[in-house]
Amino acid sequence: MDILSISGAAYLVAALLFILALAGLSKHETASQGWVYGVAGMVLALVTTLLQVADAGRVTPVIVLVAAVAVGAVIGLWRAKVVEMTGMPELIALLHSFVGLAAALTGWNGHLEAGSYSDGIHRTEVFVGVFIGAVTFTGSIVAFLKLSARMKSAPLMLPGKNVINVGALVIFMTLTVAYCITPALGLLIAVTALALALGWHLVASIGGGDMPVVVSMLNSYSGWAAASSGFLLQNDLLIVTGALVGSSGAYLSYVMCKAMNRSFISVIAGGLGIEAGPSSDQDYGEYREISAEDTAEVLLSASSVVITPGYGMAVAQAQYPVAELTRLLREKGVDVRFGIHPVAGRLPGHMNVLLAEAKVPYDIVLEMDEINDDLVDTDIVLVIGANDTVNPAAAEDPASPIAGMPVLRVWEAKNVVVFKRSMATGYAGVQNPLFFRENSQMLFGDAKTRIEEIVVALSRVPA
Ligand code: NDP
Repeated sequence: MDILSISGAAYLVAALLFILALAGLSKHETASQGWVYGVAGMVLALVTTLLQVADAGRVTPVIVLVAAVAVGAVIGLWRAKVVEMTGMPELIALLHSFVGLAAALTGWNGHLEAGSYSDGIHRTEVFVGVFIGAVTFTGSIVAFLKLSARMKSAPLMLPGKNVINVGALVIFMTLTVAYCITPALGLLIAVTALALALGWHLVASIGGGDMPVVVSMLNSYSGWAAASSGFLLQNDLLIVTGALVGSSGAYLSYVMCKAMNRSFISVIAGGLGIEAGPSSDQDYGEYREISAEDTAEVLLSASSVVITPGYGMAVAQAQYPVAELTRLLREKGVDVRFGIHPVAGRLPGHMNVLLAEAKVPYDIVLEMDEINDDLVDTDIVLVIGANDTVNPAAAEDPASPIAGMPVLRVWEAKNVVVFKRSMATGYAGVQNPLFFRENSQMLFGDAKTRIEEIVVALSRVPA
């Protein structure tokens, strides 16, 4: 058997392993099995590619390939080891930018290698590859900057932004036709510049509340960028893998949009149709403060408690004292449950992972839709480092940038205690009227320290 049939068969097995990986990763019971399939598929793909290059008898590409994989593996392992869980989305956004850059460079390489000897199909592949790659590259860089708070999360509202986006697409199509007729270098430079600017503008125009969808959308773009490189390099596995990532990312974005009551088209088109600015300068009145001691007293007199954690619980690493507080309250006969918003924290399932890590029993951790109707009969809700996900403006203020996003209706409970360090806004940059409601009290300070104080106060009370 020649190397081409062996590598064709190996690529097929690798593609199947990637499909099994996706299926496994879709449920947490089978996630680690899915991970094993994914790693096995990637190792097989890398080894096969290496053998293909070695079989061609060229030494330099083998050395370059091995060196590139080794450097990439060392950096990847190091970053994955040191990254905080709260930093995961920004790392993922940065990795997407590499895929975009690779696709754009592959397109450029396709142009430089084939020049004017190429046919129309090759020219289209070059142009589309560079376009998708460059959009993904700058879009992911902006997502990285926004997620790491190096750039403000409020949406960029350029006048006529929808015209800019649609105009860029029309120019892209015109340039593609021109390039298919004459593959001039100037046209390639023009489309690269256009795509870089469009990627930047698309993601900069999206507000903080929609960032979870943007991350999965860029994941999808990076898949299509990889698939376009696969066409250019005539690598079937890259085409299959790219299409898998592209379509699963697109489906995830669609599901997230539905869950957050957002228009899919609006988000992928860079906030198309969203014109409202943040309504942050409104005067909401006075807020009231409460101490940790007094919170402990209120908790002791409660029969039902709901805890709604958010990004601040992850920052403070407060999940362990939260688990301890839950245990103590349950020992004292208080009914304690958790309400988890689908985009609480900074990555899907963030809160569930933290609570599972601290051994909070699964059966008291409920999804937003499972707990929302019970909040009205709840004595006290502890909002621990959550902000956007409990913001009544989403339900009540049509001018709010997060209007229409489903939220935990904590304000319906008899009492609400909000744990945060200041009156600062959440990720979406929108003020939260919950803090000024009559049944709300603010417990300022680091969430972990404050919960530990409550635990000490409760421990002093005999069971
Ligand atoms: P938010 O980002 O809205 O608010 C978190 C709050 O935690 C802040 O207001 C902050 O207030 C407080 N906080 C931070 N550190 C501490 C600390 N050490 N102790 C106590 N409080 C602290 O969080 P939510 O979880 O409610 O909402 C998530 C947001 O992130 C949404 O807008 C969502 O769209 C977005 N997002 C979600 C992603 C996902 O996949 N889940 C991905 C990307 C974005 P203060 O500074 O005053 O302490």
